[in-house]
Amino acid sequence: MTDRRQQLARNLAKVEDRIAAACSAAGRDREEVTLVVVTKTYPASDVRILSELGVRHVAENRDQDAAPKAAACADLPLMWHFVGQLQTNKVRSVAGYARFVQSIDRARLVTALSREAVRAEREITCLLQVALDAGESGRGERGGVGPEGIGELAGLVAGADGLRLGGLMTVAPLTGPYAGRQQAAFERLMDLSTALRADHPAANMVSAGMSADLEQAVAAGATHVRVGTAVLGVRPGLG
Ligand SMILES: *Cc1c(COP(=O)(O)O)cnc(C)c1O
Repeated sequence: MTDRRQQLARNLAKVEDRIAAACSAAGRDREEVTLVVVTKTYPASDVRILSELGVRHVAENRDQDAAPKAAACADLPLMWHFVGQLQTNKVRSVAGYARFVQSIDRARLVTALSREAVRAEREITCLLQVALDAGESGRGERGGVGPEGIGELAGLVAGADGLRLGGLMTVAPLTGPYAGRQQAAFERLMDLSTALRADHPAANMVSAGMSADLEQAVAAGATHVRVGTAVLGVRPGLG
């Protein structure tokens, strides 16, 4: 084994242990939680190793990096998630490789993604990114729709060709009433998910929790955790 492979295998095993322990503490089955490894800023060679180690879900937040990486890994049995703020001019590219877009936060994006999914003859599962720190604009600083905008946006996705409404996603807020209260934030997301499922029973995905707070997310009921640093290492610079 190469050094990098050993390192990734070791990190992955630790994250696996953490998820298993969190599931067990919450009385949940391990199968209820899907690990999505966020590979942003790391090379396609790492993605390849992760695939060999059994990872099936990977995520990226910038199309410029994701598109070539997905192309370089097209032979692997991976499902790509897009988790970053998405501009409409990148939608055609993203629709070419993403099975999941977790950052749907406005109507224009739904229209554009639907058009490109149909053109590419693909079905894209969409999660609405919820901003629990949304200000009066109804939007979060780092993207996301405020809780009061979920119903309308969900209806749009559910009615759009080429798209499937998967559920909700959030990033624990750094500001506002939920700052430093990850578990409370994730519990709020679960309540919003329960409300969403009253109208859209199949939209049962709840994506919450990252390297630092995956335990709180699993405790709150998350179905998907998005883990970068704890598997790949601390990212150089921003990202
Ligand atoms: C980078 C990123 C993650 C992973 O964060 P880590 O702290 O590295 O685990 C999860 N979700 C989103 C939306 C991200 O951009």
